[in-house]
Amino acid sequence: MDVRDIQRLLSAAGLYKGAIDGDAGPLTMAAVAVILGRQDAVPWKAWPKTRQLIAAGQAVLLLLGHEPGRIDGLIGHNTLEALTDWASGAIRAAVERILQPAHAVSDTQGAYPRQDTVATFYGAAGGPDCTAGVVTLPVPFRIAWDLGQAVSSFRCHKLVADPLTRIFRQAVAHYGVTEFERLKLNVFGGCYNYRKMRGGSSLSMHAWGIAVDLDPERNQLRWGRDRAAFAAAAYAPFWNIVEAAGATSLGRACNKDWMHFQFARL
Ligand SMILES: [Zn+2]
Repeated sequence: MDVRDIQRLLSAAGLYKGAIDGDAGPLTMAAVAVILGRQDAVPWKAWPKTRQLIAAGQAVLLLLGHEPGRIDGLIGHNTLEALTDWASGAIRAAVERILQPAHAVSDTQGAYPRQDTVATFYGAAGGPDCTAGVVTLPVPFRIAWDLGQAVSSFRCHKLVADPLTRIFRQAVAHYGVTEFERLKLNVFGGCYNYRKMRGGSSLSMHAWGIAVDLDPERNQLRWGRDRAAFAAAAYAPFWNIVEAAGATSLGRACNKDWMHFQFARL
């Protein structure tokens, strides 16, 4: 439990409105004093700041219906479990909150360029930036064309490594590992690839390392929602996560190429 977690907890309890910046300044400590002030039996005033912070986190977890154990400012098994429990619930709530009409453009999508102006934003296709990002995966993925081979990371454009990492972490937190794998969201069909768009003459978004394909076998290029596996309702939370991170799903936007999402608007 670091200071950011505690700030998130205090903010979830409505006690803190400052930045989630990991800096336990006066605003954070004022919120800590409010929540601990409600704990009559806890001698928190005698504790050092770091222990007060943890105790405040425990008090919020208790308030939000989790079970952190005693409010003692010491991190044990119960506290960590309550924190994980709360964090996965928070991700679930965020995913449900952002349920939106298919292919509505969210604010985060506005942070990425339109497909016809990607070179201005990302630089030259095939340039060094296009493979300078590393996405560390939360669970091993399988290579679509060689399912016996597992990967724990892949390369992408340096500007999309963070949102991609977040997408897969949030998706695994939402579904759980077993369901994530059952849905074949771990079947990796590639990211960076210097090539033309299939059936076209302009370059594919893969040539910038800003597109990802998943489970191509069951989501073939021309298949619509009547055939594509990823058009099923079970995948809606995944696409919500993808869109909330600013990426665009071709399946949701155009009802084709359901394997593919990209950090460029259409
Ligand atoms: Zn693709």
